Amino acid sequence: METSTRGEALLARLSADDWGLRGRLQADADMSKLTWFRVGGPADLLFQPADEDDLSLFLSRLPRDVPVTVVGVGSNLLVRDGGIAGVVIRLSARGFGSVERVCETRLKAGAAVLDKKLAAAALEAGLGGFAFYHGIPGGIGGALRMNAGANGTETTGRVVEVAALDRQGGRHLLSHADMGYTYRHSAAPDDYIFTSAVFEGVAQDRAAIQKAMDAVQHHRETVQPVKEKTGGSTFKNPDGHSAWKLVDEAGLRGFRVGGAQMSEMHCNFMINTGDATAYDLETLGEMVRRKVLENSGIRLDWEIKRIGRFAPGRDVPAGIA
Ligand SMILES: Cc1cc2nc3c(=O)[nH]c(=O)nc-3n(C[C@H](O)[C@H](O)[C@H](O)COP(=O)(O)OP(=O)(O)OC[C@H]3O[C@@H](n4cnc5c(N)ncnc54)[C@H](O)[C@@H]3O)c2cc1C
Repeated sequence: METSTRGEALLARLSADDWGLRGRLQADADMSKLTWFRVGGPADLLFQPADEDDLSLFLSRLPRDVPVTVVGVGSNLLVRDGGIAGVVIRLSARGFGSVERVCETRLKAGAAVLDKKLAAAALEAGLGGFAFYHGIPGGIGGALRMNAGANGTETTGRVVEVAALDRQGGRHLLSHADMGYTYRHSAAPDDYIFTSAVFEGVAQDRAAIQKAMDAVQHHRETVQPVKEKTGGSTFKNPDGHSAWKLVDEAGLRGFRVGGAQMSEMHCNFMINTGDATAYDLETLGEMVRRKVLENSGIRLDWEIKRIGRFAPGRDVPAGIA
């Protein structure tokens, strides 16, 4: 007797063929291809909406008990080996990838726009304050959720308002205050999917903007393993401390579990040296948390988002409760 996969079973249950969707719905989508770490099991279903209306329609028709996870370009994600239950939403550049100037000092960007593209559009428009995005490899949706920042500037410093859809497909316009920004965090409801945002810059000479972007690029290439399979900073900086220093002081630069390693170049970056599993990477992270706590008395919190199911028998207990 033929058995169906989780994805096939969910697809059959939804019978979405007559919903009138224009985007792409795919069963058992390989998430390792959609994350920087290049690890992780399949999403039961992957939906790539054609545009905001298509996404709203999909969410309104999707039964309430089906979990929804949104991903950007996966530069801050560790997808576990057992895959992701329910539907993963990934916004396509086709429907969510444009940047437009809305007034003298403001740009509106779709949530699938890469941070680098927004920085380039700001340069073109002669708007300063966006150079930090030139060095962050994510997309705008991820930047809005993570309050991505670098070189002394964060997303919160540029955002004016954000458009989002809720789990039922309802539309919302969030003000800057509604986004509830703190360090690498937004307090906007967890189920909101950001679809676009308006950003404010300051008029600046293009040569000065280009210089700032070149400095960002040079700094990155000198201190970060940007060509590796990584998720960027593994842990948030605790108040008054640098996570990398705490990792270094605990003797964990280069520390390995299976194919996972704390980078020799920047020891708050975990890297997949080639054959790591999500289990190796998460185990490494939890061991580092425990050893740093033992060494310094300071708890590190994950900056990387870990999502999905553990593979059977491969749970990773939190190193420190
Ligand atoms: C080499 C390297 C360097 C990095 N340097 C920096 C840095 O300097 N500063 C920094 O802040 N980060 C850095 N990062 C981390 C990462 O690039 C940022 O967190 C980025 O903002 C994540 O965007 P993403 O599109 O990859 O999101 P993902 O990693 O795919 O997702 C991250 C989170 O955002 C949520 N999300 C994604 N899209 C949406 C959406 N449309 N609506 C709602 N939620 C959404 C996801 O659910 C998830 O919780 C680095 C990563 C790498 C690999």
